[in-house]
Amino acid sequence: MKAVYSPLHAGHAGGVELYRGALVPTFETPERAEIIRAALMSGGYTLVAPRAIPESRLERVHEAEFIEFLRSVHARWVAQGRQGHVLPSGFPARGLRRDRRPAGISGSLGYFSFDVSTPICAGTWDAALAAARCAMTAAALVAEGERAAYALCRPPGHHAARSTFGGYCYLNNAALAAQYLRDEGHRRVTILDVDYHHGNGTQEIFWERDDVQCISLHGDPDTEYPWFMGYADERGAGLGEGYTLNLPLPAGTGWEAYAAALDEALAAIRRYAPAALVVSLGVDTFAADPISAFKLESRHYPLMGERIAALDLPTVLVQEGGYAVAEIGTNVTGVLGAFAD
Ligand SMILES: [Zn+2]
Repeated sequence: MKAVYSPLHAGHAGGVELYRGALVPTFETPERAEIIRAALMSGGYTLVAPRAIPESRLERVHEAEFIEFLRSVHARWVAQGRQGHVLPSGFPARGLRRDRRPAGISGSLGYFSFDVSTPICAGTWDAALAAARCAMTAAALVAEGERAAYALCRPPGHHAARSTFGGYCYLNNAALAAQYLRDEGHRRVTILDVDYHHGNGTQEIFWERDDVQCISLHGDPDTEYPWFMGYADERGAGLGEGYTLNLPLPAGTGWEAYAAALDEALAAIRRYAPAALVVSLGVDTFAADPISAFKLESRHYPLMGERIAALDLPTVLVQEGGYAVAEIGTNVTGVLGAFAD
């Protein structure tokens, strides 16, 4: 199986986040991608570079104004003599205006983001664009007839919405892959999100559409990030009503309960009968993950892969989270193995 990788991810580095009252280095690090890359190399995967897919394709999923903001904000920040990495410090919460974007950097940052864990540094835009191209290249490979392809995306993408970044995510790689498949003629596409956290950005992007089904298994947002989306009563709206399925699970969930929920998700996919599948593959469901609370073990990831592969659909697997760095390569390739040639 082909795996799409770009070294540009490494330029997105050294950022800090506000975590439980402390400013700490982001849990999302370049080392994550390099350990996955090493596991792919020793596992016999073929690493390919992303194609130079036109940036205009990003606008199939994101607003042009938002893309331009992400591209330029670090240079503006530096030009104004500000120090450190770009981080927002205030948001248009309930009671404040959300219809107007302030002209200044701080106001614009709050307008376009939703947390303080997603720093923008000098190399962030190039890394995010490369990750988006990795995902769309994997989609192109599948559109051209590969049974499956994997995109080693870093930064991840599933928290990024149409015009909002957050949760370590800037551009929504999985949504771009799904839209790419739609644009290449796949009639219906399902996105199955198995990251520990709810894929709020993906859900928002396809909320009112019936041509992309969005299914997410994740930690219950009553206690888990991103807190304000991912509840079971969110089912889509308008044309999209019934095409979003959220399966929140309690802290401490182990393989048995997880597999039961996964089977429910797979049954919904079979009913929808898509022409292709995009998997938002986070492995922060792992027991040793430092910021998550499920109890999956490394031996469970091949089982997860087998169940998903049994759908027998053309499949794009897109890397999302996973912060137990030492085991991330083993756990990712554990899932991928079921799709290997
Ligand atoms: Zn996650």
